[in-house]
Amino acid sequence: MLSTMQDVPLTVTRILHHGTTVHGDAQVVTWTGDGAPQRRSFRDIGARTAQLAHALREDLGVQEDERVATFMWNNAEHVEAYFAVPCMGAVLHTLNLRLPADQLTWIVGHAADRVVLINGSLLGLIAPLLDRMPTVEHLVVSGPGDRSLLEGVRPRVHEYEDLIAGKPTGYDWPDLDERRAAAMCYTSGTTGEPKGVVYSHRSIYLHSMQVNMAQSMGLTDADLSLVVVPQFHVNAWGLPHATFMTGVGMLMPDRFLQPAPLAEMIESERPTHAAAVPTIWQGLLAELTAKPRDVSSLTQVTIGGAACPPSLMEAFDTLGMRVCHAWGMTETSPLGTVARPPAHAIGTDEEFAYRLTQGRFPAGVEARLAGPDGAHLPWDGKSAGELEVRGPWIAGSYFGGVDGEVLKPEDKFSPDSWLRTGDVGVISADGFLTLTDRAKDVIKSGGEWISSVELENALMSHPDVAEAAVVAVPDDKWGERPLATVVLKEDATVDYAVLRDFLATRVAKWQLPERWALVPAVPKTSVGKFDKKVLRRQYAAGELDVTQL
Ligand code: ADP
Repeated sequence: MLSTMQDVPLTVTRILHHGTTVHGDAQVVTWTGDGAPQRRSFRDIGARTAQLAHALREDLGVQEDERVATFMWNNAEHVEAYFAVPCMGAVLHTLNLRLPADQLTWIVGHAADRVVLINGSLLGLIAPLLDRMPTVEHLVVSGPGDRSLLEGVRPRVHEYEDLIAGKPTGYDWPDLDERRAAAMCYTSGTTGEPKGVVYSHRSIYLHSMQVNMAQSMGLTDADLSLVVVPQFHVNAWGLPHATFMTGVGMLMPDRFLQPAPLAEMIESERPTHAAAVPTIWQGLLAELTAKPRDVSSLTQVTIGGAACPPSLMEAFDTLGMRVCHAWGMTETSPLGTVARPPAHAIGTDEEFAYRLTQGRFPAGVEARLAGPDGAHLPWDGKSAGELEVRGPWIAGSYFGGVDGEVLKPEDKFSPDSWLRTGDVGVISADGFLTLTDRAKDVIKSGGEWISSVELENALMSHPDVAEAAVVAVPDDKWGERPLATVVLKEDATVDYAVLRDFLATRVAKWQLPERWALVPAVPKTSVGKFDKKVLRRQYAAGELDVTQL
């Protein structure tokens, strides 16, 4: 028997309509670096979104299902693209600004991007690559930047503001099937070739509702969220869509992502919430230690994308910024778990330990652990296996290119279509996930697994250590052993033996690294995570100054 309920498709268009009417006065504030941030209401964004859609359709001929790429910082124009493109029936393709040239040109060709919306300050990155991007016919440029960099290029160049000027501020948005593609994002390739994940209107809608739940980010129209996580990194963790559902304001840093301007914008715009990967927060912490600012407005910080070191959480707690740790990936939209401690743990000794886990699965994300032989493991907080997930905002395949078939590689999807995350960990009986490693980063020493993350966290809790990354290196006797690479804080003089003794009080003796190297900085991926591939390569090439204890 069918229900008697209305069958209203869950589309991005409905989120846009809600945000621009019910929350029309909410604002997107974009940092400009000159003391006068740009302020634009959701209502104005709605009008400009319609103008952009008209321009894309009427002037540039964008058709339904066509990918429209963005190569942009976090700013109001990027939010306009977030809504105009999916709502007109096309597919928003956010390009990662920090990808190496080869990957970027490959991705643009694979998605067959014909129109690219780009910030003026990024022209220098794209201009030299245009010859290798034959599909690109139009560049639409917004914001400051040297236009002369585009002189003589093949694609036609348009000014964003000129293109939308005079266009109607309303648009007859098409009725869309909620399962249609709305947006796409390629994985950042930490684990091999980039793979295209295509989000549907429905997955974005449901994911946004989950982001807004009190046990997830739980923001309201009293909040202003500093969205540091890039809009090209898994839809800025869903914030641009989620805020249009609730009227949360967004503070967008544009290109000012260095610790000093971030501290300045927190002090002057007084956001209540912020979201970014741990490396951004490590930088801000150092900045605030060197030059204290009034950051008292910022009471909630969402950290994800990589494990949050306990020392960082403690330091932020001391500053009055309560960290909420979350786990996710491009394939999971990204919200997969959020570490809000259960009620019974609040105010007890267990609370901090709960907050340090990757978090609890929300309704909508089903999880299981697969052991090395594929058998499913119990949720007992002890049995470690690869995490597999499924749900309405979890990818079921990858984009195979315009004429290609969808890709469903066996190492990424189980035979019954659960996503294999490549993350290894345990799940407690009450549904909290603790990750110990990525499958490929686990150190397999003499038949036992050593968690690189556990060693890193222990090292980073030493007062002289700024950053630490631990990778597996080949070892004649044990197969693999850990190599500890350490970045010391300025003026620190601690030596390896001291660090080793410090570790010995925190991890089992057989896990202690014998090989140590000081590095000026841990190499980072395009989205700011530790790039262990590079460290392993540097070690193999003899480029690290390794001391054996
Ligand atoms: P890529 O897989 O290309 O690096 P993603 O942003 O999709 O790009 O990365 C997802 C991965 O990041 C996860 O599979 C996991 O390994 C890691 N990750 C994300 N959040 C956390 C977290 N809170 N703790 C530990 N690892 C995390």
